[in-house]
Amino acid sequence: MTLPLFGIADSCEGFAREPSRIVVRLKSPDTEPCDDSDFSLVKSTVDLIRSIEGKHHSIFVVGDSLDTPVSPSLFNRVISLPAKFDYLDTGDILGIHIPTKKFRTLFRRSSRHNSFLVTERCNNYCLMCSQPPKDIDDNWILSEIKRSLPLIPKSTPTLTFTGGEPLSDWTDFIGVIADCRDLLPNTAIQVLTNGRAFANSTIVDAWKAIGHRSLIAAIPVYAAVDYLHDYVVQAKGAFDETILGILKLKDRGQRVEVRVVLHAHTAPIIAETSRWIARNLPFVDHVALMGMENTGFALANEKSLWIDPIDYRESLCEGVQTLAAIGMNVSVYNLPLCVLERSIWPYAVQSISDWKNGYVEECTKCIERSRCSGLFTSGRPRQSRGISAIR
Ligand code: SF4
Repeated sequence: MTLPLFGIADSCEGFAREPSRIVVRLKSPDTEPCDDSDFSLVKSTVDLIRSIEGKHHSIFVVGDSLDTPVSPSLFNRVISLPAKFDYLDTGDILGIHIPTKKFRTLFRRSSRHNSFLVTERCNNYCLMCSQPPKDIDDNWILSEIKRSLPLIPKSTPTLTFTGGEPLSDWTDFIGVIADCRDLLPNTAIQVLTNGRAFANSTIVDAWKAIGHRSLIAAIPVYAAVDYLHDYVVQAKGAFDETILGILKLKDRGQRVEVRVVLHAHTAPIIAETSRWIARNLPFVDHVALMGMENTGFALANEKSLWIDPIDYRESLCEGVQTLAAIGMNVSVYNLPLCVLERSIWPYAVQSISDWKNGYVEECTKCIERSRCSGLFTSGRPRQSRGISAIR
Protein backbone atom coordinates (compact mmCIF):
# COMPACT_ATOMS: atom_id res chain seq x y z
CA MET A 1 0.00 0.00 0.00
CA THR A 2 1.19 3.50 -0.84
CA LEU A 3 0.00 6.08 1.71
CA PRO A 4 -2.21 8.75 0.11
CA LEU A 5 -0.38 12.01 0.85
CA PHE A 6 -2.83 14.34 -0.89
CA GLY A 7 -6.54 14.52 -1.59
CA ILE A 8 -9.71 16.56 -1.20
CA ALA A 9 -11.30 17.24 2.17
CA ASP A 10 -14.98 16.38 2.66
CA SER A 11 -15.56 19.83 4.16
CA CYS A 12 -13.79 22.98 5.40
CA GLU A 13 -16.08 25.16 7.52
CA GLY A 14 -15.44 28.46 9.29
CA PHE A 15 -12.75 29.87 7.00
CA ALA A 16 -14.58 32.90 5.56
CA ARG A 17 -12.02 35.33 7.00
CA GLU A 18 -8.92 33.18 6.47
CA PRO A 19 -6.41 33.30 3.59
CA SER A 20 -7.12 30.81 0.83
CA ARG A 21 -4.11 28.64 1.74
CA ILE A 22 -3.62 27.58 5.33
CA VAL A 23 -1.23 25.31 7.19
CA VAL A 24 -2.64 22.99 9.85
CA ARG A 25 -0.86 21.13 12.65
CA LEU A 26 -2.72 18.27 14.31
CA LYS A 27 -2.83 18.30 18.12
CA SER A 28 -4.01 15.80 20.67
CA PRO A 29 -7.46 16.78 22.05
CA ASP A 30 -5.79 16.79 25.50
CA THR A 31 -3.08 19.28 24.50
CA GLU A 32 -3.82 22.96 24.50
CA PRO A 33 -3.47 24.67 21.13
CA CYS A 34 -0.42 26.95 21.10
CA ASP A 35 -0.60 28.29 17.56
CA ASP A 36 -3.43 29.45 15.30
CA SER A 37 -2.49 26.53 13.02
CA ASP A 38 -3.31 23.96 15.72
CA PHE A 39 -6.35 21.75 15.19
CA SER A 40 -7.51 19.01 17.55
CA LEU A 41 -7.35 15.62 15.81
CA VAL A 42 -10.70 13.86 16.13
CA LYS A 43 -11.12 10.22 15.13
CA SER A 44 -13.92 9.23 17.54
CA THR A 45 -16.75 10.65 19.62
CA VAL A 46 -14.46 10.40 22.67
CA ASP A 47 -11.91 12.64 20.89
CA LEU A 48 -14.71 15.09 20.11
CA ILE A 49 -15.78 15.31 23.77
CA ARG A 50 -12.13 15.71 24.85
CA SER A 51 -11.70 18.50 22.30
CA ILE A 52 -14.66 20.38 23.82
CA GLU A 53 -13.28 19.85 27.33
CA GLY A 54 -9.80 20.91 26.13
CA LYS A 55 -11.25 24.20 24.85
CA HIS A 56 -10.21 23.61 21.26
CA HIS A 57 -11.81 25.98 18.80
CA SER A 58 -10.59 24.17 15.70
CA ILE A 59 -10.98 20.46 15.00
CA PHE A 60 -9.78 18.13 12.28
CA VAL A 61 -12.07 15.14 11.84
CA VAL A 62 -10.75 12.02 10.10
CA GLY A 63 -13.23 9.28 9.14
CA ASP A 64 -16.95 8.98 9.76
CA SER A 65 -17.06 7.23 13.13
CA LEU A 66 -18.67 10.11 15.06
CA ASP A 67 -22.02 9.13 16.60
CA THR A 68 -23.48 12.58 15.99
CA PRO A 69 -22.74 15.35 13.48
CA VAL A 70 -20.48 18.14 14.77
CA SER A 71 -22.58 21.13 15.86
CA PRO A 72 -21.28 24.29 14.08
CA SER A 73 -21.79 26.26 17.31
CA LEU A 74 -19.16 24.21 19.20
CA PHE A 75 -16.11 25.06 17.09
CA ASN A 76 -14.90 28.00 15.03
CA ARG A 77 -13.26 25.87 12.34
CA VAL A 78 -13.94 22.29 11.26
CA ILE A 79 -12.10 20.29 8.60
CA SER A 80 -13.27 16.77 7.72
CA LEU A 81 -11.29 14.14 5.78
CA PRO A 82 -12.25 10.68 4.48
CA ALA A 83 -11.30 7.59 6.50
CA LYS A 84 -8.50 6.60 4.13
CA PHE A 85 -6.39 9.35 5.73
CA ASP A 86 -6.62 7.59 9.08
CA TYR A 87 -2.79 7.38 9.19
CA LEU A 88 -2.68 11.08 10.16
CA ASP A 89 -1.51 11.58 13.72
CA THR A 90 -0.74 14.30 16.21
CA GLY A 91 2.18 16.49 15.19
CA ASP A 92 1.50 15.97 11.50
CA ILE A 93 1.29 19.07 9.31
CA LEU A 94 -0.89 19.66 6.26
CA GLY A 95 -1.28 22.42 3.69
CA ILE A 96 -4.86 23.12 2.59
CA HIS A 97 -6.31 25.26 -0.21
CA ILE A 98 -9.63 26.25 1.28
CA PRO A 99 -11.59 27.18 -1.93
CA THR A 100 -10.93 23.79 -3.56
CA LYS A 101 -10.51 21.80 -0.31
CA LYS A 102 -7.38 20.25 -1.82
CA PHE A 103 -4.75 19.30 0.74
CA ARG A 104 -1.30 17.74 0.97
CA THR A 105 0.36 16.07 3.94
CA LEU A 106 3.55 18.08 4.39
CA PHE A 107 5.09 16.47 7.45
CA ARG A 108 4.49 13.26 9.40
CA ARG A 109 5.99 13.30 12.86
CA SER A 110 6.49 9.52 12.96
CA SER A 111 8.29 9.34 9.60
CA ARG A 112 12.04 9.25 9.02
CA HIS A 113 11.45 10.33 5.41
CA ASN A 114 9.90 13.78 5.48
CA SER A 115 10.45 15.74 2.29
CA PHE A 116 9.08 19.04 1.08
CA LEU A 117 8.37 19.50 -2.61
CA VAL A 118 9.67 23.02 -3.29
CA THR A 119 8.51 23.53 -6.88
CA GLU A 120 7.43 21.55 -9.94
CA ARG A 121 9.60 23.71 -12.22
CA CYS A 122 12.93 22.38 -13.48
CA ASN A 123 15.49 23.21 -16.18
CA ASN A 124 16.17 19.49 -16.69
CA TYR A 125 13.63 17.11 -18.19
CA CYS A 126 14.97 13.74 -17.06
CA LEU A 127 13.82 10.62 -18.87
CA MET A 128 12.91 8.93 -15.58
CA CYS A 129 11.74 11.97 -13.55
CA SER A 130 9.42 10.83 -10.78
CA GLN A 131 7.93 14.34 -10.53
CA PRO A 132 7.51 15.46 -14.17
CA PRO A 133 8.26 19.20 -14.42
CA LYS A 134 5.53 21.75 -15.03
CA ASP A 135 6.17 25.32 -16.10
CA ILE A 136 3.76 26.93 -13.64
CA ASP A 137 3.81 29.71 -11.07
CA ASP A 138 4.04 27.71 -7.85
CA ASN A 139 6.04 30.12 -5.70
CA TRP A 140 3.22 29.81 -3.11
CA ILE A 141 4.74 26.44 -2.13
CA LEU A 142 7.78 28.21 -0.64
CA SER A 143 5.45 30.42 1.44
CA GLU A 144 3.67 27.29 2.67
CA ILE A 145 6.99 25.70 3.64
CA LYS A 146 8.01 28.88 5.50
CA ARG A 147 4.76 28.74 7.47
CA SER A 148 5.31 25.03 8.24
CA LEU A 149 8.87 25.17 9.55
CA PRO A 150 8.04 26.78 12.95
CA LEU A 151 5.52 23.97 13.56
CA ILE A 152 8.02 21.13 13.09
CA PRO A 153 9.49 19.56 16.26
CA LYS A 154 13.06 20.68 16.97
CA SER A 155 13.98 17.02 17.51
CA THR A 156 13.36 16.17 13.84
CA PRO A 157 16.56 14.41 12.67
CA THR A 158 16.37 15.06 8.92
CA LEU A 159 14.40 16.97 6.29
CA THR A 160 14.70 16.74 2.52
CA PHE A 161 13.83 19.41 -0.03
CA THR A 162 13.03 18.21 -3.51
CA GLY A 163 11.43 19.34 -6.75
CA GLY A 164 11.44 20.09 -9.63
CA GLU A 165 14.59 22.07 -9.13
CA PRO A 166 14.53 23.58 -5.61
CA LEU A 167 16.85 26.42 -6.69
CA SER A 168 14.46 27.64 -9.42
CA ASP A 169 13.64 30.62 -7.14
CA TRP A 170 17.02 30.50 -5.49
CA THR A 171 16.81 33.67 -3.36
CA ASP A 172 13.55 32.55 -1.73
CA PHE A 173 14.82 28.99 -1.32
CA ILE A 174 18.05 30.14 0.33
CA GLY A 175 15.78 32.03 2.76
CA VAL A 176 14.00 28.74 3.57
CA ILE A 177 17.32 27.01 4.33
CA ALA A 178 18.30 29.97 6.52
CA ASP A 179 15.00 29.49 8.40
CA CYS A 180 15.88 25.81 8.87
CA ARG A 181 19.24 26.88 10.32
CA ASP A 182 17.49 29.14 12.86
CA LEU A 183 14.35 27.14 13.67
CA LEU A 184 15.67 23.57 13.40
CA PRO A 185 19.35 23.85 14.31
CA ASN A 186 19.73 20.11 14.98
CA THR A 187 18.02 18.91 11.80
CA ALA A 188 20.18 17.66 8.93
CA ILE A 189 19.02 19.17 5.64
CA GLN A 190 19.34 17.43 2.29
CA VAL A 191 18.52 19.25 -0.95
CA LEU A 192 17.89 17.19 -4.09
CA THR A 193 19.08 19.52 -6.84
CA ASN A 194 20.39 19.04 -10.38
CA GLY A 195 23.32 21.22 -9.30
CA ARG A 196 23.32 23.44 -12.38
CA ALA A 197 22.49 26.58 -10.38
CA PHE A 198 25.79 26.24 -8.51
CA ALA A 199 27.70 27.00 -11.72
CA ASN A 200 26.66 30.57 -10.86
CA SER A 201 29.15 31.88 -8.28
CA THR A 202 26.58 34.27 -6.80
CA ILE A 203 24.30 31.36 -5.91
CA VAL A 204 27.02 29.11 -4.52
CA ASP A 205 28.35 32.01 -2.43
CA ALA A 206 24.84 32.64 -1.05
CA TRP A 207 24.56 28.91 -0.25
CA LYS A 208 27.83 29.00 1.67
CA ALA A 209 26.84 32.21 3.46
CA ILE A 210 23.86 30.46 5.08
CA GLY A 211 26.41 28.79 7.32
CA HIS A 212 24.23 25.75 7.97
CA ARG A 213 25.99 23.13 10.11
CA SER A 214 24.45 20.09 8.41
CA LEU A 215 23.46 20.84 4.84
CA ILE A 216 24.15 18.66 1.82
CA ALA A 217 23.38 19.11 -1.87
CA ALA A 218 22.51 15.76 -3.51
CA ILE A 219 23.34 16.07 -7.19
CA PRO A 220 22.89 13.50 -9.97
CA VAL A 221 25.72 12.63 -12.36
CA TYR A 222 24.53 10.00 -14.81
CA ALA A 223 27.61 9.21 -16.85
CA ALA A 224 31.31 9.89 -17.32
CA VAL A 225 30.68 11.66 -20.62
CA ASP A 226 28.69 14.81 -21.27
CA TYR A 227 26.46 13.63 -24.12
CA LEU A 228 25.08 10.67 -22.12
CA HIS A 229 24.34 12.76 -19.04
CA ASP A 230 22.77 15.47 -21.21
CA TYR A 231 20.64 12.84 -22.97
CA VAL A 232 19.36 11.41 -19.66
CA VAL A 233 18.44 14.87 -18.36
CA GLN A 234 17.30 16.07 -21.83
CA ALA A 235 19.28 19.31 -21.54
CA LYS A 236 22.34 20.16 -23.66
CA GLY A 237 25.19 21.59 -21.61
CA ALA A 238 23.76 20.28 -18.31
CA PHE A 239 26.76 18.00 -17.59
CA ASP A 240 29.25 20.88 -17.77
CA GLU A 241 27.11 23.09 -15.52
CA THR A 242 26.49 20.28 -13.03
CA ILE A 243 30.17 19.36 -12.71
CA LEU A 244 31.15 23.03 -12.46
CA GLY A 245 28.51 23.41 -9.73
CA ILE A 246 29.94 20.47 -7.78
CA LEU A 247 33.47 21.85 -8.09
CA LYS A 248 32.39 25.30 -6.88
CA LEU A 249 30.51 23.83 -3.91
CA LYS A 250 33.51 21.77 -2.85
CA ASP A 251 35.84 24.72 -3.48
CA ARG A 252 33.81 26.58 -0.85
CA GLY A 253 33.82 23.68 1.61
CA GLN A 254 30.20 22.66 1.08
CA ARG A 255 28.93 19.08 1.39
CA VAL A 256 27.97 17.25 -1.79
CA GLU A 257 26.43 13.86 -2.48
CA VAL A 258 26.64 12.48 -6.03
CA ARG A 259 23.67 10.35 -7.10
CA VAL A 260 23.37 7.94 -10.01
CA VAL A 261 19.90 6.57 -10.80
CA LEU A 262 20.28 3.15 -12.39
CA HIS A 263 18.29 2.36 -15.55
CA ALA A 264 19.01 0.94 -19.00
CA HIS A 265 21.10 3.99 -20.03
CA THR A 266 23.16 4.26 -16.84
CA ALA A 267 23.30 0.83 -15.17
CA PRO A 268 25.32 -1.05 -17.83
CA ILE A 269 28.08 1.60 -17.56
CA ILE A 270 27.96 2.07 -13.79
CA ALA A 271 31.42 0.53 -13.31
CA GLU A 272 32.89 3.07 -15.75
CA THR A 273 30.91 5.98 -14.24
CA SER A 274 32.09 4.98 -10.77
CA ARG A 275 35.72 4.90 -11.96
CA TRP A 276 35.27 8.40 -13.40
CA ILE A 277 33.77 9.68 -10.13
CA ALA A 278 36.59 8.04 -8.16
CA ARG A 279 39.23 9.73 -10.32
CA ASN A 280 37.62 13.13 -10.88
CA LEU A 281 35.39 13.77 -7.86
CA PRO A 282 37.13 11.88 -5.02
CA PHE A 283 36.46 14.84 -2.70
CA VAL A 284 32.65 14.56 -2.67
CA ASP A 285 31.14 13.46 0.63
CA HIS A 286 28.94 10.57 -0.48
CA VAL A 287 27.99 8.64 -3.61
CA ALA A 288 24.58 6.97 -3.83
CA LEU A 289 23.93 4.41 -6.56
CA MET A 290 20.16 4.12 -6.73
CA GLY A 291 17.53 1.74 -8.10
CA MET A 292 14.91 3.53 -10.19
CA GLU A 293 11.36 4.24 -9.02
CA ASN A 294 9.01 3.20 -11.81
CA THR A 295 6.74 6.23 -11.75
CA GLY A 296 6.30 9.59 -13.50
CA PHE A 297 8.26 9.81 -16.75
CA ALA A 298 9.80 6.40 -16.03
CA LEU A 299 6.41 4.93 -16.93
CA ALA A 300 6.17 6.82 -20.22
CA ASN A 301 9.74 5.75 -21.08
CA GLU A 302 9.51 2.31 -19.53
CA LYS A 303 10.49 0.42 -22.69
CA SER A 304 13.79 2.26 -23.04
CA LEU A 305 14.55 2.54 -19.29
CA TRP A 306 13.65 -0.74 -17.62
CA ILE A 307 16.48 -3.09 -16.88
CA ASP A 308 16.22 -5.88 -14.35
CA PRO A 309 18.66 -5.10 -11.51
CA ILE A 310 19.80 -8.73 -11.60
CA ASP A 311 21.25 -7.98 -15.05
CA TYR A 312 23.55 -5.22 -13.75
CA ARG A 313 24.48 -6.70 -10.40
CA GLU A 314 28.07 -7.44 -11.45
CA SER A 315 28.79 -3.96 -12.85
CA LEU A 316 27.11 -2.39 -9.79
CA CYS A 317 29.30 -4.51 -7.54
CA GLU A 318 32.39 -3.39 -9.45
CA GLY A 319 31.29 0.26 -9.21
CA VAL A 320 30.75 0.06 -5.45
CA GLN A 321 34.08 -1.67 -4.91
CA THR A 322 35.91 0.92 -7.03
CA LEU A 323 34.46 3.77 -4.96
CA ALA A 324 34.99 1.97 -1.66
CA ALA A 325 38.62 1.30 -2.59
CA ILE A 326 39.42 5.02 -2.67
CA GLY A 327 37.75 5.48 0.70
CA MET A 328 34.58 7.02 -0.69
CA ASN A 329 31.47 6.91 1.48
CA VAL A 330 29.28 4.91 -0.94
CA SER A 331 25.73 3.56 -0.61
CA VAL A 332 23.32 1.50 -2.66
CA TYR A 333 19.76 2.81 -2.43
CA ASN A 334 16.40 1.30 -3.35
CA LEU A 335 17.62 -2.18 -4.30
CA PRO A 336 16.69 -5.36 -2.41
CA LEU A 337 19.49 -7.47 -0.97
CA CYS A 338 18.60 -10.54 -3.01
CA VAL A 339 19.45 -8.80 -6.30
CA LEU A 340 22.82 -7.55 -5.02
CA GLU A 341 26.14 -9.36 -4.84
CA ARG A 342 26.57 -10.38 -1.23
CA SER A 343 29.91 -8.51 -1.03
CA ILE A 344 28.13 -5.16 -1.36
CA TRP A 345 25.34 -5.82 1.14
CA PRO A 346 27.13 -3.65 3.74
CA TYR A 347 26.56 -0.67 1.43
CA ALA A 348 22.82 -1.30 0.92
CA VAL A 349 20.54 1.18 2.70
CA GLN A 350 16.84 0.96 3.57
CA SER A 351 16.25 4.13 1.62
CA ILE A 352 12.74 3.87 0.20
CA SER A 353 10.41 6.34 1.91
CA ASP A 354 8.07 4.57 4.33
CA TRP A 355 4.91 5.79 2.58
CA LYS A 356 5.79 3.96 -0.67
CA ASN A 357 7.74 0.95 0.60
CA GLY A 358 6.56 -2.66 0.50
CA TYR A 359 7.53 -6.32 0.32
CA VAL A 360 6.19 -9.25 -1.67
CA GLU A 361 4.96 -12.67 -0.57
CA GLU A 362 8.43 -14.19 -1.10
CA CYS A 363 9.80 -11.82 1.55
CA THR A 364 7.83 -13.52 4.34
CA LYS A 365 10.27 -16.46 4.03
CA CYS A 366 13.39 -14.26 4.01
CA ILE A 367 15.73 -13.98 6.99
CA GLU A 368 17.08 -10.62 5.75
CA ARG A 369 13.73 -8.84 5.53
CA SER A 370 14.41 -6.55 8.48
CA ARG A 371 17.59 -5.27 6.81
CA CYS A 372 16.32 -5.16 3.21
CA SER A 373 15.13 -2.03 1.42
CA GLY A 374 12.20 -3.93 -0.10
CA LEU A 375 10.47 -2.47 -3.14
CA PHE A 376 8.70 0.67 -4.29
CA THR A 377 4.90 0.40 -4.15
CA SER A 378 4.38 3.66 -6.07
CA GLY A 379 3.74 4.00 -9.81
CA ARG A 380 3.76 0.65 -11.64
CA PRO A 381 6.07 -1.55 -9.58
CA ARG A 382 8.35 -3.90 -11.57
CA GLN A 383 9.70 -6.95 -9.85
CA SER A 384 13.13 -8.34 -10.55
CA ARG A 385 13.32 -12.01 -11.48
CA GLY A 386 16.09 -12.11 -8.89
CA ILE A 387 13.70 -11.65 -5.94
CA SER A 388 14.23 -14.75 -3.88
CA ALA A 389 14.06 -15.30 -0.13
CA ILE A 390 17.40 -15.52 1.61
CA ARG A 391 17.38 -18.51 3.94
S1 SF4 B 1 13.25 -11.74 -0.62
FE1 SF4 B 1 12.31 -9.79 -0.11
S2 SF4 B 1 13.09 -9.27 1.93
FE2 SF4 B 1 14.42 -10.86 1.08
S3 SF4 B 1 16.11 -9.77 0.14
FE3 SF4 B 1 14.59 -10.16 -1.47
S4 SF4 B 1 13.27 -8.36 -1.52
FE4 SF4 B 1 14.44 -8.33 0.39
